[in-house]
Amino acid sequence: MKTLALIAVAVCVASAQQRRPRIAVGGLVAESNSLYPRAQKMVESAPVTREEWLESAARQNTVASGVVEAAAKLGVDVYPVVRAGAGFLGYVEKKSFDEKLDKLIGQLKTASPPFDGVILIQHGALVVEGYLHGDEEVARRVRRAMGKQFPIVITHDFHSNVSDELVANCDVLITYKENPHLDTKERGVQAATIIAGMVRGTLHPVQVVARPPMIVNIVFQDTFHAPYEPIKAESRRLERTNPKILAASVPGGYQWSDVPAMGPSAIVVTDGDRALAEREARRLSGMLWDLRDKLVFRVPDAATAVRDAMAGPKFPVVLMDTGDNIGGGSAGDGTALLSEFIRQKAEGWVAVISDAAANRAAFAAGVGGAFDQAVGGKTDKIHGDPVRVVGRVRSLHDGRFVEPEVRHGGGRYGDMGLTSVIEVEGSTRDLPNLLLLTNRPTSPNSLHQLISNGVYPQRQRILAAKGTIAPRAAYEPVAARIVEVNTPGATDVNPARFTFKNVRPGLFGMPR
Ligand SMILES: [Zn+2]
Repeated sequence: MKTLALIAVAVCVASAQQRRPRIAVGGLVAESNSLYPRAQKMVESAPVTREEWLESAARQNTVASGVVEAAAKLGVDVYPVVRAGAGFLGYVEKKSFDEKLDKLIGQLKTASPPFDGVILIQHGALVVEGYLHGDEEVARRVRRAMGKQFPIVITHDFHSNVSDELVANCDVLITYKENPHLDTKERGVQAATIIAGMVRGTLHPVQVVARPPMIVNIVFQDTFHAPYEPIKAESRRLERTNPKILAASVPGGYQWSDVPAMGPSAIVVTDGDRALAEREARRLSGMLWDLRDKLVFRVPDAATAVRDAMAGPKFPVVLMDTGDNIGGGSAGDGTALLSEFIRQKAEGWVAVISDAAANRAAFAAGVGGAFDQAVGGKTDKIHGDPVRVVGRVRSLHDGRFVEPEVRHGGGRYGDMGLTSVIEVEGSTRDLPNLLLLTNRPTSPNSLHQLISNGVYPQRQRILAAKGTIAPRAAYEPVAARIVEVNTPGATDVNPARFTFKNVRPGLFGMPR
């Protein structure tokens, strides 16, 4: 009996080595602004066939795109499992999170032939009722279900808050290096390459996380400029020059998740060398800590920023509406900049507001019709009051657009819902004041959000963008100047405006 069992095991191992490795790819994604008092449901992405998923990945520049492209070259087969997401404004409701996670684990456990590993494409700032670090809970349960030997590689956004438990419950954590996030596909390639080495037994990753006692405020998280750029560059240098270092990540953290691990971190993954991982993680964490003299928080308010922008001398000036940062989870109907444009009689400005009711009025009026509506400030009381806008409807659109370049997050297709362009009073033929009303808040990661609606950013003087760093990849090529503006809202960049309960006490950059 014993001999027979041994032969059976040997045959099994031999066939697993002969067939192409099978890797599952899925994940539960949210960047939870848990300071906002609202529960969000975790919703599964629309089901697609494996072929559809592969084809969609091949057309984009996302993490999945990199995984798919590299897997094909590495002789590894990848299969989509549960991919779910939740709205960012608030924390995730426990029941829907548990359901999606149970389903994902069920798919991993019952696959036939069995999977040889999983790549979990997570965000890293998932907060769930009852689980402050939701990503950690995902890793813990997948590890418990699949056992110690099952390779688990996780990717995170740059805006991830990385806990010790998360790192302990997966083999490899890789985070985006760039903000705006232009390296998403590259990270997918890296994840697939490492897991292929693991399933073939050629790589044996160990990883260590170190966290400096600080936050790096989002206004300083531009990885293409000082002060963050040199730290990103050092993480790249480590991967390039030391073959034992499989991944080195320095995520900036997400300051609206009220969780113990909130803030930046350094995660180093080596091939079997724990001492090296520990040394380099500590050194990168030290580099982050050494930034603090350069992190002096000085951001103008809306009135000051609009006045300065009007003074030029060069245009267009891009004003980042940081308090109503749509990519960071905000409502997209904040009126702080719009109200200043109108109050100060600025010329040649562009603003985008998500307001379905005002948009309906524009569609009812039709092209050329008069428009006189209270716009924005309707989601809640923290994004400014509705502003009276008088003008005429210039054009109406279906709100869909395509971004052919690599922009923040690597997506290609945008959909703002029905969109109207209002020419606001005070406009001239050469310098119109243009308000885009959309049905859906859409992070301004692409200039085609404007161009597809007949708005030419280079011809305007002031462009308001509802974000902080993410829009830079789109706007830098046309901007004379970019200014982050401290506007009120769910993503107010001043942490003193919020009450935190769970963040580690005494962090540099947090209110005392
Ligand atoms: Zn991000």
